[in-house]
Amino acid sequence: MHSFEHDTDASRTVFGTGTLSRVRDELRRVGGRRALVLSTPGQRALATRVAGVLGDAAAGTFDGAAQHTPVEVTDAALARAKEVAADSVVSVGGGSTTGLGKALASRTGMPHLVLPTTYAGSEVTPLLGETAHGEKVTRTGPEILPEVVVYDVELTTTLPWPVTVTSAVNAMAHAVEALYADDRTADSDRMAAEGLGALANGLRSLQRDPDDVDARADLLYGAWLAGRCLGTVGMGLHHKLCHTLGGSFGLPHAATHTVVLPHAMAYNAAAAPEAMSAAAAALGVGDAPSGLQALVVRLGGPISLRDLGFDLTDVPRAAALATARPYPNPRPVEHDGLVELLTHATDGATIHPEQENR
Ligand code: NAD
Repeated sequence: MHSFEHDTDASRTVFGTGTLSRVRDELRRVGGRRALVLSTPGQRALATRVAGVLGDAAAGTFDGAAQHTPVEVTDAALARAKEVAADSVVSVGGGSTTGLGKALASRTGMPHLVLPTTYAGSEVTPLLGETAHGEKVTRTGPEILPEVVVYDVELTTTLPWPVTVTSAVNAMAHAVEALYADDRTADSDRMAAEGLGALANGLRSLQRDPDDVDARADLLYGAWLAGRCLGTVGMGLHHKLCHTLGGSFGLPHAATHTVVLPHAMAYNAAAAPEAMSAAAAALGVGDAPSGLQALVVRLGGPISLRDLGFDLTDVPRAAALATARPYPNPRPVEHDGLVELLTHATDGATIHPEQENR
């Protein structure tokens, strides 16, 4: 018998190539007449280009977005929005820029349009992690979900290969944890499987031909599906660990996801066999944890937390932080198990089929 709860997203998605040209109309549709265009410092030129496309619907730009949405940056962006009399927000970039846009929109009630340029998936979630006094706190609410997302595949073609790999595996993490979430639905299962397939195929094709725009489209499509998984069902051990490693140890977001995901899957595998079979089939590998790690190696992605600045001496504190509060996960989250997982991830230990699937 079927039994589930399903809330429909209150956001609009436009997906394609060359869709940047539609951004002015899409902004108007949600009532935006004077948008503040946000970006990171590295994407300043793109923000200026988007402001040009918006024409008189652009009030100004702010290029101070940073990882983990520091509240000082939000305050500076709020002051800029006031200074230019903005009535809406346009975020152009990855999860960092989208996070800043969410912080502004949720504080002011301004409509928010996102042009994603990575595969983070934040643009389709009602989640926001903000950092104040060195601590990252996540909140969720309908006011955080952006009203419109305009995916333009062209905007992702500049993403460097190493970031392409880690960002796509970050997206895979949303889909994998959706497959064993205790509140998953038939919809989220389908989105997760299709998303994983599109992401894995997109990465393999793009490695063969770095100019393959269809592969870029697959990756962005997979990211959209995976992001919707993150937005609709609860995440488990993997996301909790990465949140701890990013928020309390300053590790880079997407690269950390890339190293940890195969180990978190190995930790959960025996307790979630159906999810692992679905993930393996979607990824096109025999065994999901080891197959994903081998794929990351073939793609040249990171496999060791040590390479990201983490040390074995950090393991006990990270394990303690990640077990401080209970949350749903297929296998009980225990301190000793996490110490082992984090030790392996720090060393970049090779996962063998079913070896760690205790
Ligand atoms: P990011 O937004 O920090 O981008 C990484 C770097 O890549 C930046 O320097 C950026 O300028 C550059 N960049 C982005 N797109 C580019 C492109 N197309 N071409 C060239 N350079 C480009 O990284 P991210 O991984 O997308 O986002 C990480 C942040 O997003 C973290 O703070 C994380 O917590 C948050 N996040 C939130 C959610 C959510 O649902 N709330 C989901 C995923 C990630």
